[in-house]
Amino acid sequence: MPEPASVLSADERREALKELFAQTRGCVRCSELAATRKTVVFGMGNADADLMFVGEAPGASEDEQGLPFVGRAGKLLDQLLGEIGLTRGDVFVANVLKCRPPGNRDPLPVEIENCQGYLMRQVELIQPSVICSLGNFSTKLLRGDPTGITRLHGQPEIITLGTRNVRLCPIYHPAAALYTPRMLETLREDFSRIPELLALGAPEQPEHSGIPEPEPEPEPEDLAQPAPPSAGAERPREDQLGLF
Ligand code: URA
Repeated sequence: MPEPASVLSADERREALKELFAQTRGCVRCSELAATRKTVVFGMGNADADLMFVGEAPGASEDEQGLPFVGRAGKLLDQLLGEIGLTRGDVFVANVLKCRPPGNRDPLPVEIENCQGYLMRQVELIQPSVICSLGNFSTKLLRGDPTGITRLHGQPEIITLGTRNVRLCPIYHPAAALYTPRMLETLREDFSRIPELLALGAPEQPEHSGIPEPEPEPEPEDLAQPAPPSAGAERPREDQLGLF
């Protein structure tokens, strides 16, 4: 039986997050992504954050640097965070996919399926009170429902992820707002309500909300030969964890 979350200290959860990071760096569940990525972009920030953001997938800059949201969308995310008095050091930022889809194509359903265990484990270990899903892919995944972001943005709800309840607040993806001033206005408005959501604290938790162990690494399902390890898998990149 896994230990209940309440008995794990913040330090223990941070250590478990580092172990998960090490596990993702060698992941070959998606053969194409494993063969084409430069780095696995695990996520970065405060391992004990109250607020977590979940984007879609790394782009070219993120793949180069091994860090999420470091391109233009990331600069906007930082600006919006600053407007509500927060920095990257206060939050944890992750993505639905940990590897860049070639040419920045949309994540495939099988890739989302392959990668979702890592995201759920991150949520279990970080224990955020609030998750902001950025755009359609993360919103649909976390809600387990195909309703799109246009209908849902700015409407927080309590959802259960794994063994934990969390306040989910879907908002537009910053990349979408870069080119559409009206969307940026809406994103800014939705962002401005994050502090009051955080002030509510964590939602009531189910009894015995333990942290399950991650599933054992499956064989790559569509690959006769394992993919070659990426450059990122060869280099120890603890700094990829940013502010841990
Ligand atoms: N867009 C995302 O969804 N994630 C990133 O890390 C960067 C851009």
